[in-house]
Amino acid sequence: MPWYGLALAVVAALPAAAQQSVVGYDDTPMQPDGKWRVHDSRRPRPPIVAPGPASFLAPPADAVVLLGPTTAAANWRMANDSAMTWNIANGVLSPGRGLIRSSAEFGDVQVHVEFQTPTPAQGEGQGRGNSGVFLACTFEIQVLDSYQNSTYADGQAAAMYGQFPPLVNASRPPGEWQSYDIAFTAPRFDGARLVAPAVITVHHNGVLVHHARAFWGPTAHRRIADYEPKNARGPLCLQDHGNPVRFRNIWVRPLATPP
Ligand code: MG
Repeated sequence: MPWYGLALAVVAALPAAAQQSVVGYDDTPMQPDGKWRVHDSRRPRPPIVAPGPASFLAPPADAVVLLGPTTAAANWRMANDSAMTWNIANGVLSPGRGLIRSSAEFGDVQVHVEFQTPTPAQGEGQGRGNSGVFLACTFEIQVLDSYQNSTYADGQAAAMYGQFPPLVNASRPPGEWQSYDIAFTAPRFDGARLVAPAVITVHHNGVLVHHARAFWGPTAHRRIADYEPKNARGPLCLQDHGNPVRFRNIWVRPLATPP
């Protein structure tokens, strides 16, 4: 099993049913700035902002299309190299069992992803429309049905999972296509020493939800994990959390490292 499969196995293995009633935790470690616990139940939920109407954002000329109307099956594979269980049909990717990854790997990258949570909505909290977009298969932007669905702030839709809530909740209702537009700067290392953390800017349905915010470490459940040099580069990964969240129109633009 590759390292990212191993690293995420803990998150992926959590039974969805066990999380469905969870609205947060009061027994987790404090985050590094000492303000809130990881998944703190008391952390204020971000204000709700209704986004504009949904639209399909066609890829620009220099984009690498990972999921489109004519996507090659070879663009995707299971993160643990097992037989493919996800389905690609008519430009839509539907989950199977386990984490899926792009065949290509990236460092700094712009990412456009569209997703659709199930309708009618099923479950509640973390058990409702849960998936995730993992940059470098390490840093999760949470996918969740957060339309009239409360959960801990750092676990709702567009959260930097377990670290920062989005600035606002710009979720659309279940069944509508939603988008994340992400600018990701990979972490920098000098040998094994972290020189600069991963930094991310995210728009959810066209609304800014993270502005050049640094990750405290790789995504983890109930804790803050430590950076490792292997986090500097990796594929784009999508989470299977037991909910039938679908994806379409995924494209990336690898970014050159500034001189
Ligand atoms: Mg998730």
